Amino acid sequence: MKKITIEAKAKINLTLDVLYKRPDGYHEVESIMQTVSLKDWIFLKLIPGPAIELSSNCQELPRDERNLAYKAARLMMEEYQLDAGMAIHIDKNIPIGAGLAGGSADAAAVILGINEMFQLNRPREELMALGKKIGADVPFCIAGKTALARGIGEKILPLKPLSNFGLVLAKPPYYVSTQEVYSRLDVKTIQKRPDTPAMMEHIEQRDIGEIASGLCNVLEEVTLKLYPELELIKQHLISHGALGSLMSGSGPTVFGLFESARDAERAAEKIGLDGNEIFVCKMQ
Ligand code: ATP
Repeated sequence: MKKITIEAKAKINLTLDVLYKRPDGYHEVESIMQTVSLKDWIFLKLIPGPAIELSSNCQELPRDERNLAYKAARLMMEEYQLDAGMAIHIDKNIPIGAGLAGGSADAAAVILGINEMFQLNRPREELMALGKKIGADVPFCIAGKTALARGIGEKILPLKPLSNFGLVLAKPPYYVSTQEVYSRLDVKTIQKRPDTPAMMEHIEQRDIGEIASGLCNVLEEVTLKLYPELELIKQHLISHGALGSLMSGSGPTVFGLFESARDAERAAEKIGLDGNEIFVCKMQ
């Protein structure tokens, strides 16, 4: 296969708990993650080797080894000794540095794409272990759908997939550094933690009301202190009919949860929130 197109879906966190800081400096987390229909498109094409050429509609993205998609291609080439070059085009729709794991999603798509292109037929678990070398969210992005992530986010337990519930994402016009948020978090003084086992049960039952009330992300405490207006965006989403609202990852994107994509679309039409980028999508 000389060419392939793969989708790279963004993720949101339905819960995010930070249990403790590990001796290696990373944080031990427990998070229920969900892929959504907001996605980048990744186009892979074989070129004479061993070059990797990266292009994108998004000028801000690095085009060299700083790009996670580039890193993923290099890793796959080395790991499976592929004697080829690769042109990667990223059609970027997922906002950057938004808490939606756009970079990890692109890396996961490249790993899956190369696996298919070269008919490597490697098991998912092997590809997820490889993906972890690029970033903690990459294994989840390879698995997709609904899952509990533990460890530094790389240990994935698939849950009964939620799909089709509607979402309105509001992305304020600034980036948040995940590293900075974690460095400001004091694990001992966290005010409110998610009830992860209860949330897993609500997901099993597909009980949207309980899922909405169980949404909880311990990083909100930190990011909301830096950007208090995020709380207003959450309230605004609720006042426009969202069943629940939460910041995703380390932020700053905030999402509102709706029973259906149509409900989300109707709410988005009236939502205003000038200055924010608004995306209507669904769990997928
Ligand atoms: P997370 O939720 O995992 O913290 P995020 O959504 O906050 O991720 P990303 O959009 O993945 O953040 O990007 C964070 C950083 O990664 C940016 O500085 C960006 O330049 C870099 N990066 C590298 N490759 C990519 C890529 N393919 N897409 C987006 N960002 C990338």
